[in-house]
Amino acid sequence: MDKFMEMAVQLALDNVRGNTGGPFGAIVVKDGEIVGVGQNNVTRLKDPTAHAEVQAIRDACHFFSSYQLDDCEIYTSCEPCPMCLGAIFWARPKAVYYACTKEDAAKIGFDDQFIYEQLEVPHEDRQIPMMKVSPKNSDAPFQAWDCSSEKVSY
Ligand SMILES: [Zn+2]
Repeated sequence: MDKFMEMAVQLALDNVRGNTGGPFGAIVVKDGEIVGVGQNNVTRLKDPTAHAEVQAIRDACHFFSSYQLDDCEIYTSCEPCPMCLGAIFWARPKAVYYACTKEDAAKIGFDDQFIYEQLEVPHEDRQIPMMKVSPKNSDAPFQAWDCSSEKVSY
């Protein structure tokens, strides 16, 4: 376990030293083997979703050619942000191990506490307002999915 966490931390450190992204690294492990790696690549890829955990999940899913990480473990250099936590729950690994806490990250300018707070605010009052819009066909995709015999449940 320590070996994998040390590797995740090393990925994070390498990312800073190589000036390729933020100080975050993650790996996905199955049965003691590394099946995915990720570093924070937000600035390099100009992709706000390119957090280390998401990158590692993408890498492992590509490796397995699957959208699920059954029986996998994720080792991340820092406690996942809300976006990564969502991605982790969708990927369904069996456990997540983290080194630094979100409080540690906040001390160096990576504060995601406001996202947790925004979840408690009514949609229209959030910092980024979210409004419901309902065109006539808004439920058509759900109906089509519900009736589809070719859908792949996930
Ligand atoms: Zn994240």
